[in-house]
Amino acid sequence: MACNSLNMKKKINLLIGFSAVILVVLSAIQYYLVKTTYEYKVEQFRSEIKAKIAKITNDYSDIDTTIFNKKDMLYKQLAENYIRDKSTRFHIKNALLQNEFKSELTRKLQEEFQNEIPDLTIDFAIVLDKFVIYDATKEADTIFAEKPFIENKLYGDLASLDDAFLIRNYVGTTSGSLKKQELSSDYKLLTEDTLYVSIKNWEFIVLKRMTLLLVLAIFSILTLITLFVIALKALIKQKKISDIKTDFINNITHELKTPLTTLSVSTKILERKEIRENDATFSTVLGTINRQNNRLQNLIDQVMTNSLGYEEIELHKEKVSMPDFLNSIVNDFQIAYPDISIAKELDTQKINLNLDKFHLTTAITNVLENAVKYGCKNIAVKASLLNNEFSISISDDGIGISKSKHSLLFDKFYRVEQGDLHDAKGLGLGLYYVDQIIKAHQGTINVVSDLGKGATFDLRFLI
Ligand code: ADP
Repeated sequence: MACNSLNMKKKINLLIGFSAVILVVLSAIQYYLVKTTYEYKVEQFRSEIKAKIAKITNDYSDIDTTIFNKKDMLYKQLAENYIRDKSTRFHIKNALLQNEFKSELTRKLQEEFQNEIPDLTIDFAIVLDKFVIYDATKEADTIFAEKPFIENKLYGDLASLDDAFLIRNYVGTTSGSLKKQELSSDYKLLTEDTLYVSIKNWEFIVLKRMTLLLVLAIFSILTLITLFVIALKALIKQKKISDIKTDFINNITHELKTPLTTLSVSTKILERKEIRENDATFSTVLGTINRQNNRLQNLIDQVMTNSLGYEEIELHKEKVSMPDFLNSIVNDFQIAYPDISIAKELDTQKINLNLDKFHLTTAITNVLENAVKYGCKNIAVKASLLNNEFSISISDDGIGISKSKHSLLFDKFYRVEQGDLHDAKGLGLGLYYVDQIIKAHQGTINVVSDLGKGATFDLRFLI
């Protein structure tokens, strides 16, 4: 049986391990799918924005022609100054980046974005990438060529390019001619700049578009976990029930064996003529048969009555005066177990409770007998009246019950695994019966105990 149970335990552990791995794999797949969809949606969102903004800024000189003319003039002037050796690269760069149209153009473009795409908050920056002069007398002269970065911002309100994405590049060419040492010389100017935008809360906007997928992904994983936990719980419960049943069959077989063996030995003895003729021996053997018969009857009664559920127990309630009733149970018990020392603290206010005397006597006696059965020398019985509850507490200094077993203690047929803990006989019905009786009285029962620290059972009734 133990081997079988071990096998089952192994199987359950294997099942848990396997299901956990499958859950992790499924979660990883879900994560990958969601991540890929998110990346795809981000791309989709960006191309939408690109298309919209590119349309607005297709030729951004449309936004304010006068400013753009002034800007072109500035560029030409800077180029010519350079060709005439009046300006250095450094000056040109500064003049470009600190241009006087900065704030006005930024504002105008911003307004344009707001009018055309009012549901998004857009920040942008146009950064200068290149400023190259082609002079007829000189080679192409690169005044400025840098990778796009925010310090080279011409216009815009963006503070960093980290979270921004590229919308488009503008390449502008201007040509002109100037007199240099009485000679007319042509030149060309090439400029290149890039528009970056960043959309406020763009992650949130993308996630919002994925709501259905996210909800379904989370819901399916959660459902799977819940189903897994439910199935596992059912399996573990099933195993516990089957273990408990096996234990019960072992216990009852054990309990039945002694009286049955004694009965069969006794009948064998009675078959002998000399025994039948000796009155004293005959009646001794008869006494043994009677006692064993009673024991068998008791065992069967115990199984029949003690295993009733509280809904099936028929109570015959009557007014019972507390704590006198409790006192009489304890006194009777003391007579049966004179070696056990019982301390009583029963001086509460007198109160009448509506109880079934017979069942309650059996229940309280069960708890007291357990204390003796599981190794105690001293018992303390206390009664108290608190708020609207009458409580009976029975403490012992026996072997105690480890905390992990408390939740199973009141289950039908449950016995703490014996091992080398104790070899007391029993069917695991005593505490089940106590619990059922207390429940039938709408009361509660609690246990406080730990291994080696004795046990306290607390029974409470509403008054
Ligand atoms: P049984 O005594 O027939 O085994 P019970 O239902 O009365 O069944 O008790 C269930 C289990 O609880 C017992 O097997 C025992 O291990 C444990 N138990 C009950 N009362 C005590 C106690 N006072 N001290 C230690 N263990 C106890």
